[in-house]
Amino acid sequence: MLNYKTLNEIFYAIFGRIFFGKFFIGKMYFFNEGVPTKVGFDYQKVIKKIENGGKLIGFYHTHPYMDAYMSRTDVNTMKSWVHCEGKTLYCIIKGNNGTWIYECFNYVQFKEEYFGYDVLSGKCFVLGNYIFGIL
Ligand SMILES: [Zn+2]
Repeated sequence: MLNYKTLNEIFYAIFGRIFFGKFFIGKMYFFNEGVPTKVGFDYQKVIKKIENGGKLIGFYHTHPYMDAYMSRTDVNTMKSWVHCEGKTLYCIIKGNNGTWIYECFNYVQFKEEYFGYDVLSGKCFVLGNYIFGIL
């Protein structure tokens, strides 16, 4: 589905594994398509998968009309999930110029009420419904 062309935002939850905090391998689940400037998702499906043993590592979405950057909504969404899950999660965004960003939302930083997250740059590629990242 990732080669699917659309001018709407698309969303996936990523389940997989992060290795040594340096790279990750994930499978993309729960494709959802929104409108050009936002996309929602079925959080109940994500929670159900977590309850069934799935290891959530983060979320992927596109910005079809913008660069890859963290919007206020993106930050707030990530913050909620990090609090909820009690662990570090990644936010991966693909912008309209083909660039990617990753942000690592560090649980410890949020737990200590220090609002911050690590900006990471790395390479990411997709094969079918799998996503590989080197941070
Ligand atoms: Zn966004």
